[in-house]
Amino acid sequence: MVYPVWLAGFALLFWIAERVRPWRKQKLFRAGLLQDVFYIVFNAHFFGMLVGIATAGWLRSFPSYAPVALHLMEAKPFWLQLVVLFVVFDFLKYCIHNLLHRVPWLWRFHKVHHSVVEMDWIGNWRYHWVEQVVYDSLLYVPLAFLGFSQQAMFWNGVLATFFGHYAHANVRLGLGPLRYVFNSPQMHIWHHAHPDCGPTNKNFGISLSLWDWIFGTAYLPSQQPPKLGFAGIEQYPQNFFQQMIAPWRRFGH
Ligand SMILES: [Zn+2]
Ligand SMILES: [Zn+2]
Repeated sequence: MVYPVWLAGFALLFWIAERVRPWRKQKLFRAGLLQDVFYIVFNAHFFGMLVGIATAGWLRSFPSYAPVALHLMEAKPFWLQLVVLFVVFDFLKYCIHNLLHRVPWLWRFHKVHHSVVEMDWIGNWRYHWVEQVVYDSLLYVPLAFLGFSQQAMFWNGVLATFFGHYAHANVRLGLGPLRYVFNSPQMHIWHHAHPDCGPTNKNFGISLSLWDWIFGTAYLPSQQPPKLGFAGIEQYPQNFFQQMIAPWRRFGH
């Protein structure tokens, strides 16, 4: 099945889960919903396609001149490639996500994602396209040298979409002891917490929470934050085009 089919399937799955087992009382048509649907189309489809075409070119050309000794994964079974790719990718994403918060000019772009004030699975897709360029250029280039198959790359993308939807979903669906391995809505909501509600720079994990537990950035109280966002969010633009421009402006947001 092609990627958009998986994307639509996970969208339906989490839309139903949010209706059946909601964690917070939220309106069916929350503020900014239509715009976030547009973000899905823009980020997952059009921009994702552009990045896909660009990186496919890189991926095709890189292994041909990478040192043979670095083609570590090429001949390994599919399941092993997928597990290694998923874990390595996710660890790198954890590191990049840290950078997005700690490097001031990167934070300006990442703020778009943190402008979500009513969280649901759709919020997963609200981010500035520059953020995706930062992730992809730091992720794909070193991984191209490891020589993963296109099939492993595809299934890794499907898995990452599933966990992205789950971590942002408004569902009362914990993981039990697996919370120490996989990211969950219970952890990720605290990553989005407004600084007035508790500590910041916690729960950077994307699909796995493991890295947060290992490196001491995990935070998992039993309740949920009363408010999401960042200091000054009241003045932050909520319009797509203004959000695309905001990080480039010298003054302001
Ligand atoms: Zn973040
Ligand atoms: Zn998020």
